[in-house]
This record gives sequence, C-alpha cells and structure tokens, in this order.
Amino acid sequence: MDQKKKKEHGIVLTGMPVSPGAVVARAYVQDNPGLQWQEPDQARFDPGREGEMRDAFYRAVFQAREELACLARGAGSEVQGEIFAAQREILEDEELLSRIGQAILEERLEPESAIRRVFAAYEALFCKMTDPLIAARVADLQDVKRRLLCICQGGEGQRILPLKEEVILVARDLLPSDMACLDRAHIKGIITEMGGTNSHTAILARSLQIPAISGIQGATRRIPQGILAALDAVAGEVILEPDEVQQARYGKIQEQLLARRREEARYLSRPGSTRDGKVMGMGINIGSGEVSVPGEQYDFVGLLRTEFLYMEHTAPPTEEEQYEVYRKVLRQANGKTVTLRTLDIGGDKALPCLALPREENSFLGSRGLRLCLARPEIFQTQLRAALRASALGDLELLFPMVGSLEEIFQARAWVRKAMEGLAAEGFSYNPHIRMGIMIEVPSIALVADLAAEEVDFASIGTNDLAQYVSAADRMNPGMGPYYQGYSPAMLRLLERIFSAFAARHKPVCVCGEMAGDPQGSVLLAGLGARKLSMDPASLAGVKAALAKVSLEEAKNLAGRCLCLRTQEEILGELVGHESF
Ligand code: PEP
Ligand code: MG
Repeated sequence: MDQKKKKEHGIVLTGMPVSPGAVVARAYVQDNPGLQWQEPDQARFDPGREGEMRDAFYRAVFQAREELACLARGAGSEVQGEIFAAQREILEDEELLSRIGQAILEERLEPESAIRRVFAAYEALFCKMTDPLIAARVADLQDVKRRLLCICQGGEGQRILPLKEEVILVARDLLPSDMACLDRAHIKGIITEMGGTNSHTAILARSLQIPAISGIQGATRRIPQGILAALDAVAGEVILEPDEVQQARYGKIQEQLLARRREEARYLSRPGSTRDGKVMGMGINIGSGEVSVPGEQYDFVGLLRTEFLYMEHTAPPTEEEQYEVYRKVLRQANGKTVTLRTLDIGGDKALPCLALPREENSFLGSRGLRLCLARPEIFQTQLRAALRASALGDLELLFPMVGSLEEIFQARAWVRKAMEGLAAEGFSYNPHIRMGIMIEVPSIALVADLAAEEVDFASIGTNDLAQYVSAADRMNPGMGPYYQGYSPAMLRLLERIFSAFAARHKPVCVCGEMAGDPQGSVLLAGLGARKLSMDPASLAGVKAALAKVSLEEAKNLAGRCLCLRTQEEILGELVGHESF
C-alpha cells in the first residue's frame, strides 16, 4: 500500500449516486484490461496466409456470437438479455466485419490488429457524442472487441471475477458483460470513475438493486485494495475505514431502503392512483425494441425512443427493418397504446449513419424534429414504417424538440404525404393516427394553449425543458447547480402546460425523469398531471408514493411549492412532506 493511498484513509470521497442504497464491505479494486489495451497496433503476417487468417477471424466471430447467445439465454434479467442481444448484433454488422476482413486480406494485418484498428475507428466516432444512449453503445463496442481479442488469444471471451467474500467493486468503468456476469452473491456495492446516471453500469446496477456511485475521480488509485469502505449511494459518499458509529449508520440506511423497497413492491401490480382513488396513468419509457415489463404493471408505452434503431448500423434503418421493430413492440404491448417518438437526434447527438454538419452550438442546432424536417428522406422512411405499423395496434406519433406551431404544421404535412404514398401503394395504416408533441422547448411551453389546439396530445420532456429553461447543459456535471428541474420557473411552466391542455380536453403526459421520481410524481399530480411515463424500475416507487397522498394533498403541496422562491426551498418542502 503506498503512502499516497494511506493519506486517504478515513476521508470521504464523493461522486454521483446512480443506484440507491448503502453498504459497508471491503473494496475489491478491479483492473480493467479491456479498456486499457493499447490500440491500434500494426502486426502483419507473411504473404500467403491471407485466407487462413481471415478464416481464423470469422471463427472468432462465430465463437463470440455463440458465447453471447449463451449469455443471453442465461441472463438474470431482461435488461441483461437485451445487452447481450445488442452485442450480438454488433457482430452481425456486415460493414464492420467486412472492414476487418479487408484489413486482413489486403493489408495482411493480424486479425487482432485488424480488430483493434476497426473497432478503434468506430469507438472514436461514438466517443465524440455526448448522448448517453450512444455513449452506452461505446461500452458495448469495447466489450465485444475485448471478447473477440480474448478468443483470438486462445481463451474464452468471458472474464469472471474470482471473489470469495462480500465486496464493494471499484473499477474505472464496467463493461456490460462485467455487469451481466457480476457475482451477485458477493458484489454488494459498486464504485466507478466513469459513467453517469444513464450508463449501462447505472442502469444494470439499478435493475440488480446494487448500490452504486459513479464519477469518483481516481477511485481505483485512491481506494486501496481490501480496505474497509462504507458506501452511501443516496448521498453519493464513500468513507474509507469508517469507524463503528459510521458503519452502524450505513447499515441503517440500507435497512431502511430495503424495507421501503419491500413495501413499494406491493404496489407494483396495482394500477396507479392517489389514496382517494384518482387514477394516474402509468406509462413506461423504452429505448429498445423490447417491452420487458409484465402487462399488469403499466398502462401504456408512453415513450418509445427510436434512436436505438439508428445506432446499431452504419446505414439508417430501412422502412422494413423499422416496421418489424414497431410491429414487435405493438405485439408485446398487447393492445396498450404505444407512443412512438420520431428520431430525436442531431447536433451533438450525431450518429454514425448520418453525416451531419458540425454546428458551433449544437444544443441549439438542428435537433429532433428540425433535423427530420431538414432530412425528409429519413423522416419519410420512419413515418411510413410507423404508419404501416399503426394498422396493427394503437400506435401514436410523438414529435420531439418542437419549438413552434409552424413545425407542427410541417410535420403533419409530411405525415399526410407518407399516408398518400402508402395509400397509392395499397398499404394499410390508421388514417386517424393521433399526433402529439414533446414539450421540452420553452417557446412551445409558453404557447401551450395554442399548441393544444393543433395536436392530439403532448408529452412533457422535463429533462430538456429544464435544460432550456435554465440554459444549463444537462450533460455537464459542472452545471449541476444551474440545471434546475424543480425551479420555480419550471413549476410555473408545468402548471401552465397542464391547465392549457386540460382546458382543451387534450391529454398530456410527463415522460422526463421527474415523472419517475416519487416526490416529483406527487408534485406533478398536484400541478395537474394525470399521466406519467418512466423507466420501468421507477414504477413501484412512484405508485407507492402516489398511493400515500390524496389528490387534494398533492394539490396543496404543489400550491405551497408554487409560492416558494428557490429550488432549494421547493426541494425542502418536498422532502419535508409527511408522506415521504
Ligand atoms: C426529456 O427531454 O425529458 C425526454 C424525455 O427526452 P430525452 O431524455 O430522450 O431527451
Ligand atoms: Mg428530450
């Protein structure tokens, strides 16, 4: 143990809590070779062995696919299964495979070098993007690359942690297969240097209910192997070598959390409603082609993010590919409404399959619907696929990043055009498909009364709305104090949107993170929300929170919050509310 590490004993390290809970255990600091491999190198083989080398590469691909299929079958949860399925798809990407094949055949690069080089190019492309969904795909790419390299080196692609006691895992970052193969019996907490609330590590930690903190800079260096550590993934703190009083306190936090989870789980299969029986529609947000939630737990798919379709390939998905995915989601939703959000990408959220011009201020650039209006061929393909799927179930269309009524008119015109084309070709579709907008840009929020006249429904994206209302980048941890989702300005705006839509008898849902926060959900109900859509993992907590208050109490709480002057005061009022 070096002196530098010794200095850290007894001190508190802070990071971002990404999966709630608390635990005291010894630290297991993991080396992460997959992420540290040098790349790309240029090892070449002798002429004449091209075919042999290419075949060796394809055998490795075959084995990796088999391993991933096997892991998907044995996955402990649907989320894990989806990750392995997504990784398997990377190994079916023809362009990626043929670029590696070409490097082997034409440049006589060793398969390992060719894999490193081509994967590095893909990773570099993805790394430039700040969208958390795309960032998560980088982890998949790294994971698949590591698997292939391990196989090429004569082993299995899977890396298993040999653990004998309960530990807090400390790593620079965790790859999806690390997470999926986690030794659940021994890993009681996770600390990572990298990753945010939407990283794979965070999503899986939450789904496995393992307390986790991300963003502790230099954690693998600062936390000595085997040291006793107390992790509080509610406050986002780690104490090294806690004393007995601290240990007892952390044990208590975890006990309380587990008791609360047990209690919340009782609400999971019940419909969402307040204590006095006022129904709250409970939707789920999904970012893949799978609905992984039992039907009794949710009322509708409130947000089908379609970006994943465009991330998996180097060319935009075809109409047929999209149609198949939408059809599958509708089938799994089994008669429930599916709200399909058209492609929400652009600016900084670039995609490998789309060559987009660089913009100085990409958050204020060609994003979401604006991009689709500028690239009608992409929009038309998606609209045609969605409209065809609308003949098979209750599908509605949701346009993201709308800023004005003109954009709504243009979007509707493109939908009409797509309908005309489909009709001429003899395809079926729902001619009365409902069309709605995301409310996440202040200019449309402020004219919610006018917008409500033009659309069938709306969905409030509180994540972006807070970003644009407060002019603070939602991805920048340094902007934390300025990015205010519960500011007086947000609350006033939200109330205004709910009342504008209620006056016109048009439904409005909230699909941003605020809807999945138990306290946020009660506040939203009080402000006028009657439909909330969230990550499925949030359903139990939100249903339980709503069931503890009457609608009148929620309205009173919202009324009090609306009179407060700062976000700090509002959060204080929420935390102090007797039902939480
Ligand atoms: C939002 O902005 O609140 C939202 C739901 O959209 P996304 O997080 O996908 O931008
Ligand atoms: Mg948004």
